[in-house]
Amino acid sequence: MSNTDQDSWSRVKEHLRTEVGDDVYSSWFARMDLEAIEEGAVRLSVPTRFLKSWIQSHYAERVLACWQAQEDKVTRVELIVRSAVLKSAVVPKPKPDLAAENGGRYTNGIGRALSVGDPSVHEALGGSPLDPRLTFDTFVVGRSNTLAQAAAKQVAGAKRGDPVMFNPLYIHSGVGLGKTHLLQAVTWAGNAAGERKVLYLTAEKFMYGFVSALRTQTALAFKEALRGIGVLVIDDLQFLQGKSTQAEFCHTLNALIDAGRQVVIASDRPPSDLESLDDRVRSRLAGGLVVEMGALGEELRLEILKARVTAARAHHPAFDVPLPVLGYIAKTVTHNGRDLEGALNRLLAHNKLTGHAVTLEMAEREVRDLIRPQEPKRVKIEDIQRVVARQYNVSRSDLLSSRRTANVVRPRQVAMYLAKTLTLRSLPEIGRRFGGRDHTTVLHAVRKIEGLVGNDMALAEEIEILKRQLQE
Ligand code: ADP
Ligand code: MG
Repeated sequence: MSNTDQDSWSRVKEHLRTEVGDDVYSSWFARMDLEAIEEGAVRLSVPTRFLKSWIQSHYAERVLACWQAQEDKVTRVELIVRSAVLKSAVVPKPKPDLAAENGGRYTNGIGRALSVGDPSVHEALGGSPLDPRLTFDTFVVGRSNTLAQAAAKQVAGAKRGDPVMFNPLYIHSGVGLGKTHLLQAVTWAGNAAGERKVLYLTAEKFMYGFVSALRTQTALAFKEALRGIGVLVIDDLQFLQGKSTQAEFCHTLNALIDAGRQVVIASDRPPSDLESLDDRVRSRLAGGLVVEMGALGEELRLEILKARVTAARAHHPAFDVPLPVLGYIAKTVTHNGRDLEGALNRLLAHNKLTGHAVTLEMAEREVRDLIRPQEPKRVKIEDIQRVVARQYNVSRSDLLSSRRTANVVRPRQVAMYLAKTLTLRSLPEIGRRFGGRDHTTVLHAVRKIEGLVGNDMALAEEIEILKRQLQE
């Protein structure tokens, strides 16, 4: 091959790079070499069959045009795969410890079956790490996620050769509403059934695995491993970036769906809002079953919390969260499932580290910053005592004292009544906060005031004013 041929080839590559951009260029063309130019035919080589077919179907005309811009005698571009013998000689042997290391953490054994030694490829094929807690058993079904859960179960339970009911299954929702949980549940259940291999990949893993597979010249192995998969699960599709990655995603998606394999996808938005994807992919995504999961309702939040406590008790038998505390968290903490978990984790940590029992008071303090901002201000017992004392012109220590003179007894009863009606504290707790009184004393005070406000208009009005002051 002459030097002028090599010069032309350099200019063609530069031309290609400016046309397709660095990103695409380095994914598809960086490993392309010029083999020969003979009578108007240019022969180029790439390291894998996959690259060859991809370039042929997507960039053949582009490449030819770039050549013709340099050499008008060129009429044809041929693509060949460089010697596989040479290539296999440089592929390192799989490291034996890798399989053992990954065996416990990753989805399945695909990585182990491959004779590819590169750890990144290995890992990419083995799937993203799975959380053993995210199964169907721990997924609580409520109004907002019934359909998504049913569809996910159907996918997980389908047998090889069963007709595919909807493909892809596309689940979307806001953050923390259970998408990852459902997808991992599908993966666990599907792989446990052993019918079809289920591979769970985050979009990042998909990008990373694919790009690194290209770099290590094992795109073919990657593709072949993908072909062995019955169900491909891709989480957080909104993070898929880069034109070439998206092209590859599109290719994989089409190949799998056309071959009757199941694809399951989660994203934080519907397919129509995936702006960076091209129209064909979007319509392909929208062509299966698209299910939205709504916000977790209060009931569902409570059920999730109960399930979490039960699960936590398996490891921490002494961890006991009274129902009113769970009710309080379900009511006040945001709709996000992650915050619910965070709230319980704090209670657990507090309980373990200090040995103090979980109480409403503790819960209120620990989860304060997780409370929905639009929630009306939570009233504190100290505030009640302060406001009541000021109103009746007594001191706060009078309210807490054991003095029984009329001018402190009534204000004390009013304060206890307000504590009961404006906070979620239990009677014993209120008693404790009022100078260590018994809960029956508190109950008596509450009943007393309840009885009085029915007849005493002035008192009723006083209490209304106090309430308003406290809630402002
Ligand atoms: P997403 O992927 O939608 O952002 P995740 O699946 O990561 O949300 O869920 C966040 C947290 O909430 C996880 O701990 C998950 O287990 C929990 N969670 C969400 N929905 C449910 C549910 N229906 N049942 C049990 N736990 C749930
Ligand atoms: Mg997620």
